[in-house]
Order: sequence, then C-alpha cells, then structure tokens
Amino acid sequence: MNFCSQCAHPLVFQIPHGDDRPRYLCEACGAIHYQNPRIIAGTLPVWQDQVLLCKRAIHPRLGYWTLPAGFMENGETLREAAARETWEEAHAKVEVGEIYTLTSIPHINQVQILYLANLSAPEYSAGPESLEVELFREEQIPWNELAFPTIRNALRFYFADRRQGHFPLRHVDFDRS
Ligand SMILES: [Zn+2]
Repeated sequence: MNFCSQCAHPLVFQIPHGDDRPRYLCEACGAIHYQNPRIIAGTLPVWQDQVLLCKRAIHPRLGYWTLPAGFMENGETLREAAARETWEEAHAKVEVGEIYTLTSIPHINQVQILYLANLSAPEYSAGPESLEVELFREEQIPWNELAFPTIRNALRFYFADRRQGHFPLRHVDFDRS
C-alpha cells in the first residue's frame, strides 16, 4: 500500500500512537489503513461416495485440483459465500451442511473455512476459474496433484471420518513458517 485511499497522499508504515504494531498511516489526513486477515469460504461437496474437485484454471497452482473456495464478499454470510463459490467454480448446487475444517494460515493472513455439503444432483461443470470439475472416489483422488495443504488435510479428514461415521470440526493452526 503506497497511497492514501482517502486523500492520495503517500503513506508511511509506523506504529500509531497507542497501538502495538506498524500500520499504514496517512500523515496528511490522519487515516490509519488497517489490514486484517481475509476469510476464504468453501465446501467439500459430496455426491454418494464421491467428492467434487475442481482443476484450477488460475494462478496460483494452475492445473492442480482443489475444493471450491474463495474470498468471502462484503454483505454475504459465510454459508452464502461457500455456496456461491461452489456455484462459480463448479456450477454445482449444494445443500451446505456443518462447518468442517477451520484453518488459520497466519503466514498468508487467511482463515479458511470449509463446510460439508451435499450436491443436490450429480450436475456440475467448469466455471471460469476451473479447467475441469470431476467427482472422485477415495481411491481416485489425485493426492499428488492437489493445490494446497489445506485441501489435502480436508480430504484426509473426510475419508477417515467417513469410516468412523461422524465428522467432528477439524480446527487446524498452520505454522507461521
Ligand atoms: Zn490521507
């Protein structure tokens, strides 16, 4: 961040009076431009014994498989964000269930929340951010071609929990490295 979004003056990066960490400050108008973690919402969409994955058409990790998820927008609920991302990336309608994985990723300032979801029908297709969308049985999951560690975790949890028949909330804190 280089310039003030309120008055266009160049910003400095300093600890404001009474604060404990540096912020982007505007010395012209006094605005403090706080930056806070962003929320990624998505689903783990299930149809019978299969899970829906999307092959990414965008960077980062273009060509790798992921679960539908993306940045929450202002004015929507977390559940709406998860369903919207599933529609946008996979053109799939889902019944959004319980929150399943909650992951803090402090080194990139994100919190990722994935819901368990059921496909309303085995109907889906690639949205603009996906190259392909497919249903996978456990033995078909492309474990070496998954886009992110959070996705690998969610799928590992899911198939292990499915054998147990219950799906406790999986709350993971990633290391800061
Ligand atoms: Zn300013």
